[in-house]
Amino acid sequence: MQALFDDYVAAAGLATELVNTAPGVWHGEDQLDDDAALASFLAEHGVTDEVGPGDLAAVHDVRARLRAVLDHRDAGDLAAGASALVARGLGTVGLDPDGRGRLQWGARPRPDASLADRLALLGGLGALGALRALGPERFRDCASDTCSGVFIDTTRPGRRRYCMPDLCGNRANVAAYRARRKASGGSS
Ligand SMILES: [Zn+2]
Repeated sequence: MQALFDDYVAAAGLATELVNTAPGVWHGEDQLDDDAALASFLAEHGVTDEVGPGDLAAVHDVRARLRAVLDHRDAGDLAAGASALVARGLGTVGLDPDGRGRLQWGARPRPDASLADRLALLGGLGALGALRALGPERFRDCASDTCSGVFIDTTRPGRRRYCMPDLCGNRANVAAYRARRKASGGSS
């Protein structure tokens, strides 16, 4: 996954989905409770890194730090927190091709950056890009009264209300999801 400054939507989406895997968010359980769960989360987001020893605990730490950033509602606090995350993984700034082959400003991780450092870089850049383009009001709490999730709304109209729109907006869906997880031993 690239970290292009002006192409923040995917990175902001990754940041949102990473923080909402934490225990205590709507489904209660930790969605990244082992290396396999982390590997499939990464694959879903186009991150090709292998998961090695120590990565899971480090990603949990970055997830908590990212959550603390997304809980801010003040632009200055958001920018400072997101910048600190970026600094954790940043190597150099350069020009990288976007999906159409046009060169765009982008951040490249340090050569020795760990998986967690790279996720911090991506999540921090996603938050900074959304803050710059859309403003601090796009950082919100999930509107569901049974969910403690947060999200960055990068939709064009800006009217998103739930951290996981297909689930938190619909109690019946949550019940069905919980039942499926229980039936599958929580591995899905
Ligand atoms: Zn939610």
